Amino acid sequence: MAGIYIHIPYCKQACHYCDFYFSTSLNSKQAYLAALAKEMDLRMAYLADEPIHSVYLGGGTPSLLTEDDLAGIFNELNRHFSIAPDAEVTLEANPDDLSPQKLNQLRNSPVNRLSIGIQSFEDEDLVYMNRSHTVAMGTEAVQMAREYGFKNISIDLIYGTPGLSDELWRRNIRKAVALGVQHISCYALTVEPRTALDHFIRSGSITGPVDEQSSVHFEILLEEMKKNGFIQYEISNFAREGFYSRHNSNYWLNEAYLGLGPSAHSYNGLSRQWNVRNTNQYIRSIEQGKVGFELETLLPNTIYNEYILTSLRTIWGTDLNRIRMMGENYLRTCEKEVQKYIQSGDVIRKESQLFLSDKGKLIADRISSDLFAV
Ligand code: SF4
Repeated sequence: MAGIYIHIPYCKQACHYCDFYFSTSLNSKQAYLAALAKEMDLRMAYLADEPIHSVYLGGGTPSLLTEDDLAGIFNELNRHFSIAPDAEVTLEANPDDLSPQKLNQLRNSPVNRLSIGIQSFEDEDLVYMNRSHTVAMGTEAVQMAREYGFKNISIDLIYGTPGLSDELWRRNIRKAVALGVQHISCYALTVEPRTALDHFIRSGSITGPVDEQSSVHFEILLEEMKKNGFIQYEISNFAREGFYSRHNSNYWLNEAYLGLGPSAHSYNGLSRQWNVRNTNQYIRSIEQGKVGFELETLLPNTIYNEYILTSLRTIWGTDLNRIRMMGENYLRTCEKEVQKYIQSGDVIRKESQLFLSDKGKLIADRISSDLFAV
């Protein structure tokens, strides 16, 4: 199931924790959209005419685009690629952009899934993160999206912020469930280098997240999601039956995807490449008839390590038969290193599949890195 990701590199304001590529100036938007259409010309062969089952507009903040901007992008997509009639078309949106007029426009566009950046149902948290909306705006945006007929809505939540007690986090999850969304992505707040959050914590003006608190929040998350019938199909992603994100699943199941726009990544099973992380440089290189990107040809060790990293985190688990096909040496490494985690109850082996237990999910990164080939 091949997919296309389009990066929209614009935001209204900078969230303090964010290290995605974006600009708060929209001056280059028209030139960027023209360059995006040209990039489609240059890269239409990348997915070798495979039908596209997932289109994902991420960013940045794609909901900042106007109705005409979006119509232009979808026209170009249809002109260059064979988008499957039942493709999942997701648009990331911030609550403050989702006015009734906007939702009406989106309902009349190919977008059939919204991923709304709620992040928290606590205003204090939203201020800490420098989000551009309030809790009331977030709640109303989800309710209105449902009223306007969106039947596939995902929301993002962040836990581990210093002001978020265990009880407040539990209340956040319950509010998310009560809103009737089909998909919830939950991430622990992390302090990325060179973000505003990093700077404020270093200068002592605010406190940062504490690992122990995030671990407790993760345990609460698993408990509440299970209780409410959500399926944890990846460590940070929960969905109602039939609502797994195709875009995310493509990534975890090693399907090919084409990334368009500055900083967007592409993958075709043999190599991984990432576009230049600067909109002006991106536009200039496209205008000269080439895409500015870096490329990594995937060596056998990388293919194995990436498979371990992505598969172990998912409901589908790690398939030892597939590892055998990569090479007996990888199978030996994996089976030897995983033994201690099977004994400690962090990994469960069912025939030729490995899965993380709930306890193991708390140390997923450590387990994966222990299984890596070096
Ligand atoms: S809206 Fe999203 S992409 Fe933009 S700064 Fe905030 S988190 Fe980052």
